[in-house]
Amino acid sequence: MIRMVDVSKVYDNKVTALENVNVEIAQGDFVYVVGPSGAGKSTFIKLLYRELRATSGLIMIDDFDLTQLKDREVPFLRRKIGVVFQDFKLLSRLTVAENIAYAMEVIETDPEEIKQRVTQVLAEVGLTGKAARFPNELSGGEQQRVAIARAIANNPHILIADEPTGNLDPNTSEEIMALLEKINAKGTTVIMATHNDQLVNSHVHRLLEINNGDIVRDEKEGTYANEG
Ligand code: ADP
Ligand code: ADP
Repeated sequence: MIRMVDVSKVYDNKVTALENVNVEIAQGDFVYVVGPSGAGKSTFIKLLYRELRATSGLIMIDDFDLTQLKDREVPFLRRKIGVVFQDFKLLSRLTVAENIAYAMEVIETDPEEIKQRVTQVLAEVGLTGKAARFPNELSGGEQQRVAIARAIANNPHILIADEPTGNLDPNTSEEIMALLEKINAKGTTVIMATHNDQLVNSHVHRLLEINNGDIVRDEKEGTYANEG
């Protein structure tokens, strides 16, 4: 369960990116975060995985209060939350298997368990056989699958995706969407910021629309028309 109470974020340059946001997201939800450029979507997402700290308000993830979380406690949060990005953020000098293993080493997982889990998540994302490849030997869609495998390696309750299809063609975007829905069907909460109105409207889920730092719409089965 995720809960934001009166959350505001003011950047150092005095820009108020979010103002008094209140929202609850239940375990197992699939939630889109949409809105125009500069609306506050990335800020919202970054607050959830404690890339940013809120200026005021309360952010609860399960029983973690992110506003109280110390930097050295962030790894505990990262066990609960996996994150994927538009540009994949794979480590280019590491193989696919090593990229995934790295996320588990960070939280001091036993090496034997890492080996098994890497095999398991690669199968889950449809990349069995690609373990020894380097990121630049893979297509964009495959790289995003690796990033998703890394994000779910620690069995997080929550998967956050910031524009995961932003660099992918429509067919590949569909495949990534199907994968996110498969992960969601197993009980993982998925929160996805996106501009891709085609996906939003063809795979209908809860929709949060942010505009000007405010959640202006919260619909259980929302559709969206991107204005560009
Ligand atoms: P979106 O993801 O919807 O495009 P953002 O959350 O990135 O929106 O930005 C919300 C507002 O905060 C914008 O006005 C943006 O310019 C501003 N902003 C974002 N990041 C920073 C930052 N690091 N420093 C100052 N202002 C920022
Ligand atoms: P930094 O703190 O320098 O951003 P980290 O050690 O947190 O680096 O992360 C190293 C790499 O692993 C980065 O590419 C980052 O995006 C990725 N990463 C970290 N945590 C997660 C996570 N929970 N899910 C997916 N990728 C992650």
